[in-house]
Amino acid sequence: SAPGPDGSEGIEARLRRGLRSLGLPEDAAPSMARYAALLEERNAVMDLTAVTGEAEIASLHFLDSAAVLTAGIPLSERSLIDVGSGAGFPGIPLRLIDPTIRLSLLDARRKRVEFLDEVCAALDLDDVIRIHGRAEELGASGGPYRETFDGAVSRAVASMPILAELCLPLVRTGGVFLAMKSVHCGDELEQARPAIGILGGEIERIWDYPVPDTEVVHRLIAIRKVCPTPDAYPRPFARMKKRPLGGTVRR
Ligand code: SAM
Repeated sequence: SAPGPDGSEGIEARLRRGLRSLGLPEDAAPSMARYAALLEERNAVMDLTAVTGEAEIASLHFLDSAAVLTAGIPLSERSLIDVGSGAGFPGIPLRLIDPTIRLSLLDARRKRVEFLDEVCAALDLDDVIRIHGRAEELGASGGPYRETFDGAVSRAVASMPILAELCLPLVRTGGVFLAMKSVHCGDELEQARPAIGILGGEIERIWDYPVPDTEVVHRLIAIRKVCPTPDAYPRPFARMKKRPLGGTVRR
């Protein structure tokens, strides 16, 4: 692959090395490199991500996303929704590595969904579904995507009690919700335990992993959907924020 602008290792080589270190196939690296170039190009004119530069994009976007596949939670041939996908993370890297994942990307911001359309066109990901909307509306009782997915995944969208209320209603009983968090999420997770139970979930695995080529350690929380979510959830976003499930009222 081409070397970086400063003569450093190019992003494709960086991605190959990182994928190898995760024990994952490397063949998605060229597509990821094209995606990274598109991300950098568009990020210069619109607000897509605060992560910039080849090294950071490779590690903090692509390899962090890819690491989800090493947690021992099967996603192959499953339907998966990435809630609050933003510029496409973690959903698109997961789909590039495992083409059998039936991926949907959801974001509340139209401009971001338009960027996702562009990425999918550039990378021939015609089968990836892009949805512009709010998780709490699409997953509401009677909503179009309620309890329809085998899995949901989400990174950097909301604190754990709110995130659980956004994501668990979208997952079918027996499916799994994967929350990507930092290792400092202990308090958040404790606060979310009642919410997870009320929403029909059960924590299955908490897994810490180093993000390749960084000092950063991230945490994946796998929550199994063990029974249906009661009709009353999810609530409108303002209510979730004011009164997180199982928590105290915020003023
Ligand atoms: N997941 C991406 C990542 O880790 O790079 C993007 C994270 S960005 C900080 C959060 C994204 O979540 C934004 O693009 C925002 O529009 C979206 N979002 C926040 N609340 C949402 C909701 N209730 N439903 C759908 N999308 C939401």
